Amino acid sequence: MLTFKQLGLSEEILKSLRELGFEKPTEIQEQAIPVLIEEETDMIGLAQTGTGKTAAFGLPLLDKIDPSHQATQGLILAPTRELGKQIAEQLEIFSKFQKDISVLPVYGGAAIINQIKALRRTQHIIIATPGRLIDLIKRKAVKLGELKYLILDEADEMLNMGFKEDLDTILSYTPEDKRTWLFSATMPSFIKKIVQKYMEDPVEIRINPSNEVNKNIEHLFAAIRPRDKFEALTRFIDINPEIRGVVFCRTKRETQDIAERLLKRNYRADALHGDLSQAQRDRVMKRFKKNDLKVLIATDVAARGIDVNDLTHVFHFSLPDDNSYYTHRSGRTARAGKKGKSIAFIAGNEGYRIRRIEKQLSISFKKAEVPEVEQIAKVRINNWCTGILEKKTKGKVPKPLFDMAVTLFDGISKDELIAKILSDELDKINLGANKDLNEEESSGGGGDRDRRGRGGSGRRGGSGGRGGFKKRKWGGGDKKDRSGGSGGYGKKRSASSSYKGKKATKKKRF
Ligand code: ADP
Ligand code: MG
Repeated sequence: MLTFKQLGLSEEILKSLRELGFEKPTEIQEQAIPVLIEEETDMIGLAQTGTGKTAAFGLPLLDKIDPSHQATQGLILAPTRELGKQIAEQLEIFSKFQKDISVLPVYGGAAIINQIKALRRTQHIIIATPGRLIDLIKRKAVKLGELKYLILDEADEMLNMGFKEDLDTILSYTPEDKRTWLFSATMPSFIKKIVQKYMEDPVEIRINPSNEVNKNIEHLFAAIRPRDKFEALTRFIDINPEIRGVVFCRTKRETQDIAERLLKRNYRADALHGDLSQAQRDRVMKRFKKNDLKVLIATDVAARGIDVNDLTHVFHFSLPDDNSYYTHRSGRTARAGKKGKSIAFIAGNEGYRIRRIEKQLSISFKKAEVPEVEQIAKVRINNWCTGILEKKTKGKVPKPLFDMAVTLFDGISKDELIAKILSDELDKINLGANKDLNEEESSGGGGDRDRRGRGGSGRRGGSGGRGGFKKRKWGGGDKKDRSGGSGGYGKKRSASSSYKGKKATKKKRF
C-alpha cells in the first residue's frame, strides 16, 4: 500500500491531507492519482460510491492547475447541486495551502447574479451543474477556451438525468486538446458511447466492487404487503434507537408522503427531493449531518448529495427500476470501513427481483423479519416512559390546577393511574397494524386472494399483542379490512387463549 506522498502529490496537498486525517489513499486514489499527475491522458475511473473518487480526481487536478495563468483550467460537471457543492467544499479543503488557486461552484437554484459577479475574477476551477453552466456560458460569464481538464463526475447519473444534449453543448465550447476524466460508480452501455465519442484512448481504472466496499454491507430483504410498508419502516426505526438512515423512494410524492407521516408520529425525519428549494434542501442536509434528523427520505437523484459517513441503514421503500441504482443506494452505508445494513422492502411475490439483483451484482441477501408487535410495543412504551421521566415541568403547571388534579386523583392508586394513562397512550402510539407484517413469499402470481387467505398471520399478532387492554379499539377501525375475517376471530378470544392461538399459527407457518 502506497502513501499519498509516494503518489507524487505536492507538499501543500500532503499538508492538507494530514490535517484532514486522510492517512492512506483508497484503492481508486492509489491507482488514479499517479497516472493523472504524470501523464496527460483521458481517464475512466470506476469505483463504488464512498470510495473517495472526489480526491482521486480532485487532488491531481489541484496540483496541475497553474495559478499564475489567469484562466479557467479545470471544469468539473456534476449532476446535482448538492454534489457540486460537496465537491467544491472538498476542493476548498484540499487546496487550503495552495493560496492562489480559486475554485467556484455554480448551480441552479441560487441567484445567478452572484455567480456572474464571482466569475468576473479568475476561477481556476469551476464546478457546475450542466443547465446553469450553459446559461452562464451564453451570458459570457464563463469562458472555457483555455480549459485543460474536464471532469465528468457521477457520469452515469448525469446521463440518466438526460444531460446528454447539455453535455454536447458544453463540450462544443471547450478546446479539442483538453483532457477528459470520467468518474462513475457504474458503467452502463450509454457511458460506453460517451467514451467513444468524447475520449481518446483513455486509461481505464476499475476497482472491483466485490473486493472492498461490499463486504461491509449486509443485504437484507423483508417481504411486506405494500400497504404495510410504512408501519414496517417505523418498526425498524424503533427497534434501532441509534439509527441514522436513508429511506429511498422512487417518486418525489412518495418521499414527501412518507416524511410527513413520520413527522406526524414524531419521528425525527424529513424529505429530500428535487421539488424542494435549494435553501430547504440545505437545511435538511444540515440537520441530518448534525444528527438532528435520524432518518432522511430521499429520491435516488437527491440522495446523490448525501455525504454522511456513518449511516447505519439504507432502506429501499421501493426497489429501483434499474439495478445499478441498488449499488448506489446501498453504497450510502458502510462507508469508510464501517458496517451497515441495506434493507429492501418487497412484496411477497417479488422474490424474483431480489434474485435478479443477487445475480447481477454478485451479492447475496438474507431475509429480515419485520420486528414483532410485542417487541415494538415495549420499545414505544419504554420511550414514552423515558420521555415522561425526562420532561421538564418547571413553570408549566399552575399551582391551582396542579392542586385540583391531585385532589381529583386522590382516591386512585399509582398502578390504577398508570394503567389509565397507559391505555390512552397505547391508543396513540399506533400499534395500528397490530399484527405480523411479514408477508409470506410466493414464487409469483400470488394475487389478492392468496394474500387474504393468510389472514391467519394477521390474527396471530393481532390478538396476541392485544392482551387485556382496549380490545375493541385495536381490533376495529381500518384494520378490519386488512385482516379479513380474522378481526372477529380475534375479538372473541381472551388474551391467553389467543396467545396459544398465536403459537399454534407460528408453528404452522414455519
Ligand atoms: P465517492 O465520490 O467515491 O462516492 P467521496 O469522494 O465522496 O466518494 O468520498 C467518500 C468519503 O470518504 C468522503 O467523506 C471523503 O472525505 C472520505 N475519504 C476519501 N478519501 C479518503 C481517504 N483516503 N482516507 C479517509 N477518508 C477518505
Ligand atoms: Mg462522488
